[in-house]
Amino acid sequence: ASVVYWMRMEDLRISDNRALAQASALAQKDNVPLVVLFVLSPQDYIAHDRSARRIDFTLRNLHEIKSSLAEHHVPLCTTSHTPRISIPSHVLSLLKEWGATQLFANIEHEVDELRRDIKLCELAKKEGIDCSFVHDKCIVPPGDILTKEGKAYSVYSPFLRSWIKHLSLKKEDIHLTHAPTLADNAFSIRDHSTFGRLFEVPVPEEVEGFTLQPDEKERMRFCWPAGEDAARQILDRFVHTMARGSQLGAVNPLPENAKAPRNSAKDSRLGKYKAARDKVDADTTSRLSPYLAAGVISARQCIRATTEFSSGKIDVSSETGIGRWVQEIAWRDFYTHVLALFPRVSMGRPFQEKFANIKWEAETHKDHLQAWKDGRTGVPIVDAGMRQARAMGWMHNRLRMIVAMYLVKDLMIDWRLGEKYFMEILIDGDLASNNGGWQWSASTGVDPAPYFRIFNPYIQSQKADPTGDFIRHFVPELANVRGPEIHNPSPKLADKLGYPRPRVDHNEARQRAIRRYKSPGQE
Ligand code: FAD
Repeated sequence: ASVVYWMRMEDLRISDNRALAQASALAQKDNVPLVVLFVLSPQDYIAHDRSARRIDFTLRNLHEIKSSLAEHHVPLCTTSHTPRISIPSHVLSLLKEWGATQLFANIEHEVDELRRDIKLCELAKKEGIDCSFVHDKCIVPPGDILTKEGKAYSVYSPFLRSWIKHLSLKKEDIHLTHAPTLADNAFSIRDHSTFGRLFEVPVPEEVEGFTLQPDEKERMRFCWPAGEDAARQILDRFVHTMARGSQLGAVNPLPENAKAPRNSAKDSRLGKYKAARDKVDADTTSRLSPYLAAGVISARQCIRATTEFSSGKIDVSSETGIGRWVQEIAWRDFYTHVLALFPRVSMGRPFQEKFANIKWEAETHKDHLQAWKDGRTGVPIVDAGMRQARAMGWMHNRLRMIVAMYLVKDLMIDWRLGEKYFMEILIDGDLASNNGGWQWSASTGVDPAPYFRIFNPYIQSQKADPTGDFIRHFVPELANVRGPEIHNPSPKLADKLGYPRPRVDHNEARQRAIRRYKSPGQE
């Protein structure tokens, strides 16, 4: 007999992992081996536009996990399976081979994944194997907070109020308690040849079709080191230290960590978050999104780290840096709830169906889409953001909003093409947050930017990058431009520097977008 924990792409950690902790406790109680399974599914990665960077990050984390698990005498068995439709039977055959009596996994809320898990439950039941799927991604599980009418929230503010109330009502703080630590499995693994062999199953170095060029691989490893220790250090750095100078992107946060003086919450990046979070020319946010998206750190661990400054309570105030950061984690919960409770958003459909027929320019403006991807639109802040994404696989939130709004409202290109490109290039691609962010920018989503409130990218640029340092760093053509022209170079200067002129006139484009949103389906 054995107990199996099926680890997925969103829960790549050992600590504070509910399904793993429950599997471990049961294996301990029944005195049977615990096996951790990971199934690589290239077809799913293609279907979900997974970036090669994210797949590489997954494999790197699996390597770390394999050795950490081995210290607890627990094997990690990584397999690869195609076609994806038969993953349930593939998992079932492994469960039978290992004589499993029980499988544990954390719930993935995307439609394809839910269908897959339901199928596995049906198959396993016939074989007498129990399957337990556990909520672990969010602080508050989807479905636990609903409106007075018993419906899912589609507006953030009331969702947040309910989220806060829910946490404070749970006196025992159920959502924030640590999952028990993994038990040592030595007693059950010993002398067991089937399970002993599993320790030898290697984690592959790459997945075919998702290979990174060596220099890109190196860069991703430098920017985003794998493993729970790295994630904890990045969290610690954000919570306890202050940025020194402007940290323009392609910097590995770790080496500085050891030397940085530790500050009180007030003077750390976390403490300054409320005032500084929208600035892109300095290192103002946590940069934990790749780790949260892959579950290398849990959202609970993040929130717990903030409570040391408030006598163990959760600060959710809009007035403090800590509170504002906790509210961002609540946005992550919000979009995951939306995905789980309105599955149409994960099927390429707008949340607001009235905007399903907007007239887009995609066919006639393929070159505009390419220019946007290449960071050559002629709008410096947009180009700097897009080049940051290409260089690092990550972009500051304010920039994501600016470049998304520019693609949709200025270039009038279908938001789904932008959503897809983000998934293909980002290392933190997450269907719920990415779709939420795109539908916000496209004014088609839950609680979106109203369609007539269109960002002026030049004004946004002055606010987000007042020094212009961010643009100079990522757009070397403009490295020597001083003064306000950095935000909007004249045609003469642009020509001289070999920098493109803007593709569209912002004011004309704005009028066109408002017209088309007002009367969807019309020119
Ligand atoms: P911090 O400011 O330190 O915030 C801490 C954490 O809170 C983040 O790591 C993230 O997990 C969560 N968070 C913060 N802001 C948001 C938000 N607006 N929505 C949901 N969660 C949030 N985030 C992703 O994780 N994956 C994506 O694929 C993604 N795509 C986006 C696409 C668009 C068009 C937009 C506008 C936003 C997108 N976001 C996405 C949300 C946000 O931009 C990133 O989470 C944030 O920039 C990550 O940087 P950070 O870790 O330093 O964030």
